[in-house]
Amino acid sequence: RVKEQGKNNFQFYTPDMNEAVSQKIKLEMGLRKGLERGDFNVHYQPQVDVSFGRIIGVEALIRWNHPDLGNIPPSDFIPIAEETGLIVPIGEWVLYEACRQNKEWQQEGYAPLRVAVNISSRQFQHSNLVEVVQRTLTETGLDPQYLELELTESIIQDSKHAISTMQKLKDMGIHLSIDDFGTGYSSLSYLKLFPIDTLKIDQSFTKNIFSDTKDAALVHTIINMAHSLDLKVIAEGVETGEQLQFLQQTQCNEAQGYFFSRPISAEELSIVFKNELLLN
Ligand code: C2E
Ligand code: MG
Ligand code: MG
Ligand code: MG
Repeated sequence: RVKEQGKNNFQFYTPDMNEAVSQKIKLEMGLRKGLERGDFNVHYQPQVDVSFGRIIGVEALIRWNHPDLGNIPPSDFIPIAEETGLIVPIGEWVLYEACRQNKEWQQEGYAPLRVAVNISSRQFQHSNLVEVVQRTLTETGLDPQYLELELTESIIQDSKHAISTMQKLKDMGIHLSIDDFGTGYSSLSYLKLFPIDTLKIDQSFTKNIFSDTKDAALVHTIINMAHSLDLKVIAEGVETGEQLQFLQQTQCNEAQGYFFSRPISAEELSIVFKNELLLN
């Protein structure tokens, strides 16, 4: 009977919607279990100095290997993790793992790199972020100068709180960047208020810099504006040599994308580091 009622209540849903809803509930439960079970791991994508082609940092990107559903991309589960608040414990786990791994590479004798960790706006607004970051650095022994936090323009909603949180993180010696720059709907005035180091040009702009003169103009302008404000610029989604050439000519500082490497496991990246050392 209960089942029957339930069915009637949901009559306005199409079967497709029902499926989407149950898929979402499945993912939400899976996220909770996944954290306990250790389904998550972190991949790393190199960030390269545009002038010398050297790896100067890595971005940590979460990967979820679900026992039944297989690999689920972040675009499918990060929004659910944000809605449910699960992004807070998941994000803390990524932060810890990325700092721990970076410290391990340093202890193995590789040249020190910065690790960039994505912080969702829900996580940023959570009251104890600064303490969590401080504790993570203490526990892993990572020097704050080797940690970067990637924030999105959406944190600007509450700019007073945002500025004070950012300033505390900056005072600890951490780098801050704005991810997906240019895709939000915010005004540019925050750039002079926020204590940030780097703008990450969104891949939707990088994509067509060689074929679309308007995208090329936008990227060129973002780079010049950033430099006038004393900010560094990294271009995301660099897939071709032509794109890289454009970024070299326009004095972009850093680049990241499939042209250099896809995000790869820590073990695979260690092999890349070894080969780089051999070349040096
Ligand atoms: P993002 O932070 O902007 O990360 C860049 C995304 O672009 C990554 O997708 C990366 O794999 C992809 N990418 C890198 N180079 C290229 C390229 O040359 N071409 C193309 N087409 N794509 C490229 P991924 O790993 O699927 O992550 C998607 C988004 O999910 C991230 O975008 C970020 O917003 C979010 N995300 C990933 N990991 C985390 C995390 O640990 N915490 C939070 N809060 N969000 C995360
Ligand atoms: Mg990012
Ligand atoms: Mg991005
Ligand atoms: Mg993105």
